[in-house]
Amino acid sequence: MEIPAELLPADGRFGSGPSRVRPAQVDALTAAGARLLGTSHRQEPVRALVRTVRHGMAELFDLPEGYEVVLGNGGSTVFWDVATCCLVDRHVQHLVHGEFGGKFATATAQAPFVAGSDHVVAPPGQLARPHAVRGVDTYAWAHNETSTGVIAPVERVQGADDGALLLVDATSAAGGVEVDVSQADAYYFAPQKAFGSDGGLWLALLSPAALERAARLSTTERWVPPSLSLTAALASSRKDETVNTPALATLVMLAEQVTWLLDQGGLAWAARRSRTSSDLVYSWAEQRPWASPSVADPALRSPVVATVDLDGVDAAEVGRVLRAHGVVDTEPYRKLGRNQLRVGTFPSVEPADVEALLACVDHVVERLTA
Ligand SMILES: *Cc1c(COP(=O)(O)O)cnc(C)c1O
Repeated sequence: MEIPAELLPADGRFGSGPSRVRPAQVDALTAAGARLLGTSHRQEPVRALVRTVRHGMAELFDLPEGYEVVLGNGGSTVFWDVATCCLVDRHVQHLVHGEFGGKFATATAQAPFVAGSDHVVAPPGQLARPHAVRGVDTYAWAHNETSTGVIAPVERVQGADDGALLLVDATSAAGGVEVDVSQADAYYFAPQKAFGSDGGLWLALLSPAALERAARLSTTERWVPPSLSLTAALASSRKDETVNTPALATLVMLAEQVTWLLDQGGLAWAARRSRTSSDLVYSWAEQRPWASPSVADPALRSPVVATVDLDGVDAAEVGRVLRAHGVVDTEPYRKLGRNQLRVGTFPSVEPADVEALLACVDHVVERLTA
């Protein structure tokens, strides 16, 4: 089956992470080439790059007083282990309404020093809600559950114990959704989603309470593997370094994206653009008898990862035809097992490309059902 060239989007990358890298980010990499790549991360040129990232994040997220931007190697998955070791004290409550929330919940459930790991579970497409429990010292959920396309509020748990921490996995939300960071103690993410860079790094915006918890747990109360130590990561980050060698290319592309987002108008601009793109997908789906938004409640529909269920049309076949034309990564999260299209609508995605993608899907479905 042929999709006419004039229907195709200018850029066919619609992944929910890794997501499209803008050409300017690749240009930045070329420009950094002989000057930065292959040079020491302990010297000023690379530290200046890390500083651009840290200061850029502070500005983008309007970092509250006393919070710090900390980064380290290993991506969000490793940050789950960092948080398990250095932030969760005795008892944690997780919201689990998708794969990513579930993975962190599994990590703390297996930790020998965590006495209680409670999981509030909701089915895919819905949102689990936290409830205050005496003795729970940590609450955790994902701002955007990338596996289903559900957006969650970032706000304190009413009635929680004094000093309870809120850890928010913002891997796919950060940079594309507005947030009041002061509501969380750790707002953490990785660069390969809204920031359009490569994976392998974690970044966390940490509150004074989180830093205090980490200092207490890792220096006096438990053994923490040095590579997972948040206090070590903090000490390195304050010097604009990482504990061990980072991928410089990832940092170059990340710095370029943060600067670009700030130049465009910051988080408000980015959030509006993502919302425009995802609204195109949701309203399109509502107007098709064979499509519907996977998330029934409009208030829970993600602005950055738009999911659409197909009825009577094989989504995998649609995805295959699109892929053959260079329009890629519209497949659902692999373990979800739904007849679904999933479209990453991060700020790097042009809304016009989303319109073109939807026209392509119409074209393919008309022919598949003819
Ligand atoms: C992608 C993603 C992760 C995993 O990130 P890695 O950097 O690959 O470990 C975790 N949480 C959420 C919500 C994600 O979207």
